[in-house]
Amino acid sequence: MAPKVYIAGKLYEKADAKISVFDHGLLYGDGVFEGIRSYSGRVFRLASHVDRLFASAAAINLQIPMSRDALAAAVIETLKANGLKDAYIRVVVTRGAGTLGLDPRKTSDPQVIIITDAISLYPEELYEHGLKIVTAATIRSHPNTVNPRVKSLNYLNNILAKMEGARAGCLEALMLNHEGHVAECTGDNVFVVRRGEIHTPSVDSGILEGITREAVIELARAAGYAVIERTMDRYDVHTADECFLTGTAAELIPVVECDDRPIGAGKPGPVFRDLRERFKRLVVEGPES
Ligand code: PMP
Repeated sequence: MAPKVYIAGKLYEKADAKISVFDHGLLYGDGVFEGIRSYSGRVFRLASHVDRLFASAAAINLQIPMSRDALAAAVIETLKANGLKDAYIRVVVTRGAGTLGLDPRKTSDPQVIIITDAISLYPEELYEHGLKIVTAATIRSHPNTVNPRVKSLNYLNNILAKMEGARAGCLEALMLNHEGHVAECTGDNVFVVRRGEIHTPSVDSGILEGITREAVIELARAAGYAVIERTMDRYDVHTADECFLTGTAAELIPVVECDDRPIGAGKPGPVFRDLRERFKRLVVEGPES
């Protein structure tokens, strides 16, 4: 079936799915987005993604031109129209077409776009053997610029860090915040395990409040692990027993080396394996959002 893309209430063939070159989403990265997954036809935590999208939009003073319910329904409709059960769903809301000036008051018609695709996870062997990461020199944006809690269309900050990772032969890179504390990776949240306790940077460390992060914290606490959200330094990563990343596309993926230091035994650890299994069960058996 040819892919169909939702734009402002209509479904278009991929080749016909177009928006204006004057859209400030393109000209200035002025807009917000979400990355969502469906498993066996069930959308994982759709309500949380819709809430985060509306919060991101509110933070940049962008009025999404439809209700939360209508947006959630449009996601389901697009998924069905594409005949996809296991999918990655991208929701984009742009500021809309305007003049060549920055002024958002001179734009009109914010565009709601929904794209679905087959999922592309990291290769399976990385889930078995783990990722290597390096710390990027590019820091996560200061909360008084675009707050990292806003999932905005401007990801250059993270793209620059990802390039640094790629230069070092790594698929992910660790980003610090403006104070030098650990924030997150370029597209994933970070967790470490130390003496059986799970630690992750707190939301005020300048991170995206990952929906996978939240699910993993809930799962881990329900399973009896202590989970501590706190300020973390690179020392905490370099000396951890285990490290893993969480994200909608990646789910949970182990990290076995950071900045040339092996983490723990240099292979995925038992806490990661346990939580990954629990997460796999949650996405297919857990409550619908
Ligand atoms: N941090 C950043 C910077 C991200 O872009 C993402 C999403 N890819 C995440 C963390 C993980 O968030 P989620 O679990 O909601 O996908």
